Amino acid sequence: MDIADRLTEILDRINSAALRVGRNPDEIQLVAVSKTHPPEAVQEAYEAGQRIFGESRVQELLAKAPSLPSSIRWHFIGHLQANKIRKLLPVSELVHGVDSPELALDIDRVAADLGLFPRVLLEVNVSGEGTKFGFKPDVLRARIDELLALPRVQIEGLMAIPAPVADPEEVRPAFRLLRELRDEISAASGTPLPVLSMGMSGDYEIAIEEGATLVRVGTAIFGHRPKPGAEL
Ligand SMILES: *Cc1c(COP(=O)(O)O)cnc(C)c1O
Repeated sequence: MDIADRLTEILDRINSAALRVGRNPDEIQLVAVSKTHPPEAVQEAYEAGQRIFGESRVQELLAKAPSLPSSIRWHFIGHLQANKIRKLLPVSELVHGVDSPELALDIDRVAADLGLFPRVLLEVNVSGEGTKFGFKPDVLRARIDELLALPRVQIEGLMAIPAPVADPEEVRPAFRLLRELRDEISAASGTPLPVLSMGMSGDYEIAIEEGATLVRVGTAIFGHRPKPGAEL
């Protein structure tokens, strides 16, 4: 199977997972995670119709983007360091992993300088121990009104990277927790937070059953990443 075949199969599975739980498949977008893969692989996926690509390092995104079609929509899915915000904002359509109040405030300040209104998702630590980044649910509850009031940053929803598990079914409670937390803070703040970024190659169908609107899929499209450990 080549990249185009794999994309077709994944879009098909996304469709089926949505229909299984009575969702409209058009609510779900596929982010093709191209980190560590060369521009040629991105181009191949682009030619097969894919438009949204995810990268987790600012330098890599900036190196890749210029040689690729300008209609590609780049999503940043990694841990963002404060000193990279200025370079990232002009090229990324959505920043998935805003993982602390401080980072949100920094992004807001840089966005004001640049005259931008960046779209972001807040990353939640849904696994407790496993992941090192992300808002603890209580911190999110305590700070959400302040963050929603930021003049530049547009918070569109939540994102999570649950700790890896052997059986994808085991991750379902973490996805459900993210959706319930979104419902809760959306109701409490009176703000729609429509986007839920959750699900990767091994578990995106489960994530869709639990409400994902963005699934981030790398390996299932591009194959295994060249260097083990290069994903972070
Ligand atoms: C690498 C990465 C993915 C893609 O993981 P696969 O298992 O290759 O699909 C998704 N989300 C984030 C945040 C990543 O860093």
